[in-house]
Amino acid sequence: MATSKPIAVLLVHPSDGTPDPNRPGPDFYTDFFLNDAESLNRYWLDASDGVADLAGTRVFGWRSHGLKQADFAKLNRLAKIQQAVAAFTTADEADRIDLSGFDSVAVFGDPADDGGSSGIQSFALPTGSRNFGTSIYGIRPDHAGVCHEVGHGFGFDHAFDDSPTPHDPANDGRPGAYGDWWDVMSYARCEMYAHPRFGLAGPTINATMRRIAGWLKPERVINGKAATLGRCIVYDVNDPDPAHPHVVAVDEYDFEFRAGRGWNRAGGAGVQIRTTEENSGTHSMIRRVNAGFGSPVYMMNAGDTFTVGNKLDIFKRHFTVTVDAIDPVAGSATLLVSYRVPQREPVVGPGIVIGGVASDGGGYVIINGHLIKIPPRGPREGILRNLAALEAVELAERAEVRRALVGEVLSDLAKNVEKLGIELRR
Ligand SMILES: [Zn+2]
Repeated sequence: MATSKPIAVLLVHPSDGTPDPNRPGPDFYTDFFLNDAESLNRYWLDASDGVADLAGTRVFGWRSHGLKQADFAKLNRLAKIQQAVAAFTTADEADRIDLSGFDSVAVFGDPADDGGSSGIQSFALPTGSRNFGTSIYGIRPDHAGVCHEVGHGFGFDHAFDDSPTPHDPANDGRPGAYGDWWDVMSYARCEMYAHPRFGLAGPTINATMRRIAGWLKPERVINGKAATLGRCIVYDVNDPDPAHPHVVAVDEYDFEFRAGRGWNRAGGAGVQIRTTEENSGTHSMIRRVNAGFGSPVYMMNAGDTFTVGNKLDIFKRHFTVTVDAIDPVAGSATLLVSYRVPQREPVVGPGIVIGGVASDGGGYVIINGHLIKIPPRGPREGILRNLAALEAVELAERAEVRRALVGEVLSDLAKNVEKLGIELRR
């Protein structure tokens, strides 16, 4: 059973002026929020994986907010929303509406002279004070625009990418904000389709956003490190089948699949990578597949691999996630996860390592009872790592991989020996 977050939809106009000829009647908003096959209620039921919906939403109005158009336009956003709420909650008894059972208020103004959210705010109602998520719109906002503001009402932050610079400094100056093209919390920088009645619509929120909200059910998550033979099948992020996982989690990385259907039909198919660990930890961040060169790529197709760590640095974790296949009919992707945990610090001959060497260069080793200082990232430390890496080569299953690794390690070892020789001769 979904938890319902009913919205009080308040339709208001000024005390003067004439109605916009394109202004829909209240039934349009009831269809928009509740009755249409692609209503906002249906959207949030799908986007939350069945956890939350907008059941109980009701439409009130059209009604005058009591101010002339010019005076209403001068108010800031929150004051406009407060003015509209007061028109319903403080009206004469016959026209008074009890809003205490609602989770948020959405004001539609003819005109509104504004569009957006003021976050969650406290309102003084005749029945006592009450917190509401807030938003205000013109008469025909985009489906996606309302979903974005309702998302803020649920407590969601904007969706981020890993860009070091802001995308829309006027609205959100944090680096990466609005950067995830496959998440409605980047509206209007996101992949949308044209709905015949409700303007631009889609996409849903991503699985990492669900994790932040507590909406990501444990049975939807595969632990990629524990998977048998590292082989994992994930289904479209909105696949309702309870037996179908949505995410492969490898440490802090979430891998999800978009089949390019339903609410996400404008966004294409592929596997995407997100984390929550950067910036505030309150939002998702989509991570580029290609490190370093070229413009960023955020969609993995069959054959693409994402790598964390360096395979030769055995004191740190190293893993790869490869998209083995995409099945457009089943709406699923098969991922192969290869994970190597960090090895213990090296013991060289009858020696022990005392801190530091493995973690961040520099430290001491004791060899045959002598305390030896290892400079940070010096050739001595490099040689230690090379020797330990040679031990690890035999872990590779395939002969050509072993040959390649031995070649790389030996050539690095030769460089370290040469550097150490130069240092010692100085
Ligand atoms: Zn926003």
